[in-house]
Amino acid sequence: MSEQATQSVDAVIIGAGVIGTAVGYELAKKGWKTVNIDRNPVAGYGSTSASCAIIRVHYSTYDGTAMAYEGFKYWENFQEYLEAENQDGLAKFIQCGCMVYKADANKKLETIIARASDLGVPFEEWTPDQIKEHLPFVDTSRFTPAKRLDDPDFGQKAGGDIYGAVFFPTAGYVNDQQLSAQNIAAAAARKGGQFLYNASVTEILQEGGRAVGVKLADGREIRAKVVVNVAGPHSAKVNDMAGVTDGFNIKTGALKQEVSHVPSPPGFDYENDGYVVADSDISVYSRPETGNHVLVGSEVPECDERIFVDPDDWDESFTDQWKVQIYRQAQRYPTLPVTVPVRGVTALYDACDDWIPIYDKTDLPGFYVAIGSSGNQYKNAPVAGKLMAHLIEACENGHDHDANPLEFHLENIDRVVNLGFYSRKREINTESSMSVLG
Ligand SMILES: Cc1cc2nc3c(=O)[nH]c(=O)nc-3n(C[C@H](O)[C@H](O)[C@H](O)COP(=O)(O)OP(=O)(O)OC[C@H]3O[C@@H](n4cnc5c(N)ncnc54)[C@H](O)[C@@H]3O)c2cc1C
Repeated sequence: MSEQATQSVDAVIIGAGVIGTAVGYELAKKGWKTVNIDRNPVAGYGSTSASCAIIRVHYSTYDGTAMAYEGFKYWENFQEYLEAENQDGLAKFIQCGCMVYKADANKKLETIIARASDLGVPFEEWTPDQIKEHLPFVDTSRFTPAKRLDDPDFGQKAGGDIYGAVFFPTAGYVNDQQLSAQNIAAAAARKGGQFLYNASVTEILQEGGRAVGVKLADGREIRAKVVVNVAGPHSAKVNDMAGVTDGFNIKTGALKQEVSHVPSPPGFDYENDGYVVADSDISVYSRPETGNHVLVGSEVPECDERIFVDPDDWDESFTDQWKVQIYRQAQRYPTLPVTVPVRGVTALYDACDDWIPIYDKTDLPGFYVAIGSSGNQYKNAPVAGKLMAHLIEACENGHDHDANPLEFHLENIDRVVNLGFYSRKREINTESSMSVLG
């Protein structure tokens, strides 16, 4: 892209991850002249590239569930969402379903079942015997609570069986998360959206009490009517640049995560017959991975250290956390091959105080945020793009979203949600799981 082309636009979007590209796409569809700016060389190269890309529809809150079910519909019809001519070169949504264990930690899923019922999300309840019919290698014992490997009680059973599980068929994962962001970037480009890579934003330009553009590390300035912070784990740094942090009741921070994968329990085709699994009894989540592997992440239990870092200066090496997670998983899958070299990623969540994102305006007119995705907003990227475009347009037309929070129509599931749910000024939402489950 020529320097000339980017000197003045309607919207600068800082970040070209899966959410940043979706925001650019929706604004471009509304006829805005947009540019996504990213310090990386291509779209989806930031925390999106490490995402497990799990698309699940169970959340603790009504709004969280509604948004996730709406998001599922876009992944189910990804080609249509992108207005792409065919499937060539598109990331694929693998709809394997998601099994969620009924555990003490999630109050046997009472709230989640109620939310799903309210919203017409399909599900089945399975007994321990039914779980074993689907996944014969499972030990259905209770192990709660999650423990560290040096705890003498690690691996000890807590007595009795797990309380069963809920299976959600409208769930799965995307096979190539980085490609999916590039697909959305391409869709935005087809609508006229521009992308500027290898460019770092170092300053938010302000005039007359408004954001009016950004300055780049090489000294270039790009003027814009609005600037949107979609900087992932760098969100707090970009908010600091804009001087808006004090106006946030909910804060964001870069939280280190480790995700690794090991071969399937022997004799089972996990890649084709496995599910996404959320197991709060042992505080891990998992999904099938290429090569007949099981990909394992953490539900971030209290006993694990939460390592907040400077996203520009952090130790990217594995600690023993990946091993802790694999051994926790092996309680449920006793034949899981655990003595393998580490394969996986370390990465950063942009974690919010209450693990619910912030999709909002700020106290600086013209400066907006889609941040705090807390390890659980990949699935919602298409919806986040749409609601941000709605919010930005309304605020730029004079709507006072703080005083009178906007409503937003979820077009696929025909529900209306109140965007005050995502406000930077909200009190901590005590309905949240206070974990990556949102
Ligand atoms: C290990 C892991 C597993 C996850 N698993 C899931 C999952 O299974 N399901 C789910 O729904 N969600 C999951 N998530 C969360 C999900 O991946 C994120 O919510 C999503 O990818 C965030 O997208 P984004 O566009 O906001 O941020 P990012 O992808 O991080 O993009 C932000 C971009 O901003 C750029 N940037 C930052 N600062 C600047 C600057 N100053 N100048 C220029 N560019 C800048 C960065 O280079 C980056 O590319 C997971 C996250 C992680 C880390």
